[in-house]
Amino acid sequence: MSPASRPIRLVFLGPPGAGKGTQAKMLEERFGARQISTGDLLRQHVADGTHLGQEARGYMDSGGLVPDSIIIGMMEQQLANLDAFVLDGFPRTVGQAVALDEMLARLSKPLHAVMLFEASREMLLRRLAGRWTNPRNGRTYNTEFNPPRVAAIDDQDGGPLVQRPDDTPGVVAKRLDTYEAQTSPLVDYYAKTGLLVRLDGLKAIEDVTADVRRALDARNGAAV
Ligand code: ADP
Ligand code: ADP
Repeated sequence: MSPASRPIRLVFLGPPGAGKGTQAKMLEERFGARQISTGDLLRQHVADGTHLGQEARGYMDSGGLVPDSIIIGMMEQQLANLDAFVLDGFPRTVGQAVALDEMLARLSKPLHAVMLFEASREMLLRRLAGRWTNPRNGRTYNTEFNPPRVAAIDDQDGGPLVQRPDDTPGVVAKRLDTYEAQTSPLVDYYAKTGLLVRLDGLKAIEDVTADVRRALDARNGAAV
């Protein structure tokens, strides 16, 4: 990020497997906009055995959503001290979106854009079946579309990659249904605010990255 550029504040919206985490990591690495992934934060709580993790685990394992009260409390702590961020996987319900609006108004940190990553159900299933994740930092690879140099090993830190326990076909089907029922209403919610940018998530990773860049440039020079 150049010193003259303004901090970017984005929401990444879209179904599981659409590429939100992949693009959020890219923005973080290249432009210093901190990725805040509620999924990664929750998995860390589960791994650490915290009270919050114990409460969240059952919902995550079954492909449902963790209750809004838990998620909103967790995000309030995250957002208080950040000027630039990409929210990856939050909000996921209208209740969370309303709470986010209130938080950001209080902090005087308005969003610049909400980027919607769209892809067909068939492609989401393929991507999630091939997803391998670095549990230490949330970076993902894909056996079909973006393989690591050595199978099951992260190119960057040399440590093991794992398949997430909720990336099994049965839980994935449930997560996609959960998205349709509880999260897709946010598309209309944000379309009404004028913040929504639709991106073709079916394109290759670097082409989606170029579209994200273009969308940022087009939105009143915010950021990059
Ligand atoms: P999300 O965060 O939206 O659930 P991810 O970024 O984790 O999605 O991507 C899901 C899987 O698809 C990962 O294995 C990732 O490597 C792969 N992937 C991400 N974007 C693309 C793309 N544009 N084309 C092909 N594969 C992709
Ligand atoms: P993906 O990247 O595949 O979309 P995530 O890693 O974002 O999946 O989320 C994994 C799980 O964590 C979800 O299935 C859900 O149980 C829980 N979760 C993550 N973010 C939220 C949220 N904002 N609200 C409720 N539950 C969430």
